[in-house]
Amino acid sequence: MASKFSKSNLPKQLFINNEYVDSKGSKKLTLKNPADGSLVADDVPLADERDVDIAVAAGEKAFAGWRAIGAVERRNILYKFAELIEENLDSLAELTRITLGAPFETFGKFEAAMCAETFRYNAGWIDKFAGESYPQDDGFMKIVRNEPLGVTAGIVPWNGPLGTVGLKAAPALATGNCFILKPSEKTPFAALALGPLIKAAGFPPGVFQVLSGDGSTGALIASHMKIRKVSFTGSIPTGKKIQEMAAKSNLKRVTLELGGKSPAVVFDDCNLDNAVTWTSNAITANTGQVCFAASRVYVQEGIYDKFIEGYKNAMKEKASGVGSPDEKKTTIGPLVDEAQFKRVSGFIERGQQGQGKLLVGGQRIGDKGYYIEPTVFTDVDPTSEIHTQEIFGPVSVVRSFKTEEEIMELSNNTQFGLMAGVFTQDINKALRVASNFDSGMVGVNCVSMMFGNAPFGGSKESGVGRECGIHALRAFTEPKTVMINLTYQ
Ligand code: NAD
Repeated sequence: MASKFSKSNLPKQLFINNEYVDSKGSKKLTLKNPADGSLVADDVPLADERDVDIAVAAGEKAFAGWRAIGAVERRNILYKFAELIEENLDSLAELTRITLGAPFETFGKFEAAMCAETFRYNAGWIDKFAGESYPQDDGFMKIVRNEPLGVTAGIVPWNGPLGTVGLKAAPALATGNCFILKPSEKTPFAALALGPLIKAAGFPPGVFQVLSGDGSTGALIASHMKIRKVSFTGSIPTGKKIQEMAAKSNLKRVTLELGGKSPAVVFDDCNLDNAVTWTSNAITANTGQVCFAASRVYVQEGIYDKFIEGYKNAMKEKASGVGSPDEKKTTIGPLVDEAQFKRVSGFIERGQQGQGKLLVGGQRIGDKGYYIEPTVFTDVDPTSEIHTQEIFGPVSVVRSFKTEEEIMELSNNTQFGLMAGVFTQDINKALRVASNFDSGMVGVNCVSMMFGNAPFGGSKESGVGRECGIHALRAFTEPKTVMINLTYQ
């Protein structure tokens, strides 16, 4: 089934109870194309309190039926939805690209396919996500059931508008919850276009709904008294607000996937080409707008000069792939919007005022759109903002180090703890360093990657809880203990 939506027929209504409806309020979102700054639309609905209440009521009504539906039927609905996403990969990626600016080959295709695959993965769990039982020697049999929570929600960012839908909606729906999706105000179109696919897959009305809006819509969701869980991906300041709103309202469950400033530690004994390839890919994928990008690169002094030469060349090579996301040869698109461009440019400008030495990049490309050169600073002051803060653009900092002890201390001296990487051919060192990193994920001879079947998420302020694998199902269910009295006659 081909989606009716495209660049010339944008979805501009909320998807509630399996129907497209106008929002109750009059506020609208304005969207621009980062490739050239042109207006894409100024009439995309911003869901207000009434819209959120209507969607929650529809979800509540649908919940009993959806949680009771047979495992095979539910699995087939999720499979069908995955299939429909794949059939519409091109158009969904295009709907994302017009406001995110990510090229199809290097990002759009990947994240739409990842969304489909996550639905398939979670569908496969439906009849395998077992409960527990405990000995009955005391006369009571104890059965533990995994119960869904009710109406749940996902608030997602702009940098992975479809990938993050899979990470949240798929486990929520697989475990029998109803789900409301709130896409980012910067990238709402692919999410809003899911309506016909949701319906055609067979989701009953009210089970899977989409409300576009900005932070005000997100806040209504996070503080709603009848939403039982929010899974959020975005910045640390917003994540903290969401946790606070959840606590102040109904203690809804919260999963937080937040920012990072991830270190890659490159030892003298590594395979140099491999280290250069992974670290340069890590900071330029999706124009550096990736939460787990390796943005701090630490290189042992014995190979420092050689690494710098390779890394600089790799970044120059990357710069030659920057261009319009609609062109086939482009590998790196623009930053998402003017605000992000100003933010990243500000870091680069201030970085040159005594924080570090500009090795490569630093310039805007062209005078239209939000293109920027992949940028590297060396000799960076470890207390400076370019070393300590998440820039969320194609900007990395490099420092040399002498000892493992010294670099583990610097790697972990941060509020973040999302990803880390170690490059070495010494297995003992690799495992020691991997265990000593304070982070949710560690790559050995690789970095900045994820897998659908293994836990994804951060420690410290990079997040609370995990997505992917069985952990995602646990995050959308709660154990219920049923005690059976076997002594009763
Ligand atoms: P953001 O926090 O500004 O917005 C994320 C979402 O939250 C959007 O949908 C937004 O509308 C909503 N929101 C904003 N204010 C809100 C409020 N007060 N209450 C409820 N919802 C609100 O983040 P962003 O700029 O969209 O995304 C970039 C950030 O996301 C970066 O910090 C990045 O590292 C992080 N991120 C993390 C992961 C991860 O898995 N750890 C993945 C992708 C992005």
